[in-house]
Amino acid sequence: MGKLYVVATPIGNLADITLRALEVLKEVNFIACEDTRRTLILLNHYNIKDKKLISYYEPKESVQVPKILKLLEREDVALVSDAGTPSISDPGYKLIRACIERGIPVEVIPGPSALLTALVGSGLPTDCFTFLGFLPRKGLENFLEDIKIYKDTTLIAFESSNRLIKTLQTMEKVYGENIPLCVARELTKIHEEYIRGILREVLEELQKRPEIKGEVVILWRLQDVKS
Ligand code: SAM
Repeated sequence: MGKLYVVATPIGNLADITLRALEVLKEVNFIACEDTRRTLILLNHYNIKDKKLISYYEPKESVQVPKILKLLEREDVALVSDAGTPSISDPGYKLIRACIERGIPVEVIPGPSALLTALVGSGLPTDCFTFLGFLPRKGLENFLEDIKIYKDTTLIAFESSNRLIKTLQTMEKVYGENIPLCVARELTKIHEEYIRGILREVLEELQKRPEIKGEVVILWRLQDVKS
C-alpha cells in the first residue's frame, strides 16, 4: 500500500520549501495538484522532472478521490496545492479523510501557510486565534455580527484584494473604527507589507492607493490589545 504525502509549498518565495518536501516530490511518481501549470513552475525551479500530475481542484474533488485512492493501493502520491499548506482553504480534506477511513497512511510535510505567517507578522496576540477561512461574499454584515462573541482571540480571514476596501468598510460599520487590525499583503513576495493600526488608519492608508493588488489576509481583535 502507498502513502499520501501532504506537502506544503511556497506562498510566494520559491525558496520557502523544506528539504523533506523536495525529497518527497523527487521520490513520488504521482503528484495531485490544483493547477498543473503552477505546480510545474515549482517542479521546474527545483529540476524535478518526469512526474505524472493529477489535477485535483475543488469542483473535481469528489471525482478524483476514487482515482487517487486506487493509485494509493500500489504507490505513494504527493498532494500539493497552488501555494501553502494543502487543505487550508484549499482542496485536501476529502482525500485525507478518505485515506484515513481506508487505513491508508497520511504524512504531512509541514511548511508555509499564509495563515500563520500573517498571524506572527501582525503583532496581534498569538496565544489564541480563530481562523475564519474566506469571508462570505453574501451576508457579510450578519456574519460579522454573529462573530462578535469572539472577544479574546485574534480573528483571521482570507479575502481577495478587490473586495478588501468594501470588507473593511463593512467591518467599520459593525465594529466601529477603533478595533486593532492588520492587513498582511503579498507575504514572502517583493511587495510584502503589513498595514497595522486601528481599523480607520488601515482603511485610510488603503483608500489613498489607486488600486490594491495581490493576496491579502485580514487580522483583527474585537477588544483592545493590552501590553
Ligand atoms: N492553503 C493556502 C495556505 O496555506 O496559505 C491558502 C490558500 S487560499 C486558496 C488563498 C488565500 O490565502 C489568498 O486569497 C490570501 O487570502 C491568502 N494568501 C495566500 N498566499 C498569500 C500571500 N503570499 N500573502 C498574503 N495572503 C496570502
